[in-house]
Parts: sequence; structure tokens; C-alpha cells
Amino acid sequence: MNETEKILKITNGVDGIWNLINGEDNSLIYEQLYDYFHEDMPYGIQKARTGDPDEWISDRLNYIYHRILNDVFSTVQICMCLCHKEGADIVHFSPCCDFTGYKYLDKDNEINRSNLHELIGQYILNHKHKKP
Ligand SMILES: [Zn+2]
Ligand SMILES: [Zn+2]
Repeated sequence: MNETEKILKITNGVDGIWNLINGEDNSLIYEQLYDYFHEDMPYGIQKARTGDPDEWISDRLNYIYHRILNDVFSTVQICMCLCHKEGADIVHFSPCCDFTGYKYLDKDNEINRSNLHELIGQYILNHKHKKP
């Protein structure tokens, strides 16, 4: 497992990372993240003397979150086909993209963030064995 996969496992997916960097206070997950990251932390932060370990972790998660998005969207474009729209019943003869029929657009064609996060998570899982 690489770092991204380990973090996704601890946070229970991309939406979990997003919740944490947006202030979700989950001490159980923070403990696991501390275990994972503490060797990378400066000593003073590790001991909570010169800084707050949770803040350090949050910054790191923010960085990882954006790295994940950059990685995925460097190879994938968000497909705006109607089959991705909530409530739409589109039948394809050939797929429009890797996620044909997967709903991540709401009725106003706005992207549903948590569905998109799930999609990104699936994309990472599907592609981890294809990387050279
Ligand atoms: Zn489609
Ligand atoms: Zn599509």
C-alpha cells in the first residue's frame, strides 16, 4: 500500500479526508493518523511543544487531498453526460466514460461532492494495479 491508500484506509475514503480538513473532530482517526505520521513530524510538534500535532496532520491531509485530485484529474475529465445525473435514466449502447451511469451530478447539474469523492476513491483502487 502506498501513502495515499493507507490514508484512504484510515479516513475511510476521500470524503473522510475532506471532512477532516474541514474541521471534523474525530479523535480516533486522528490517533491513527498520528501513529502513521509521527515519524515525519518535527520533534517539538510530535511532543506538542512547538506546535499542534493535529494541525500538522490537517495540513498534511490537505496536501494529500489536493495531490489525489491532481493525480486523478490529470488523466480523467469530469464527464458531464446526462447518465451521471441524479434521477436520469439514460441507456448507453457504448459507455461514455469509465463511470457510465454513476451518479455524481444533482438535478441542477451541480457536482455532488461526496459522490464525486467516492468516484475518485474507486478510480484510485481501479488504477493502482495498472500503474507501471
Ligand atoms: Zn453517459
Ligand atoms: Zn460519463
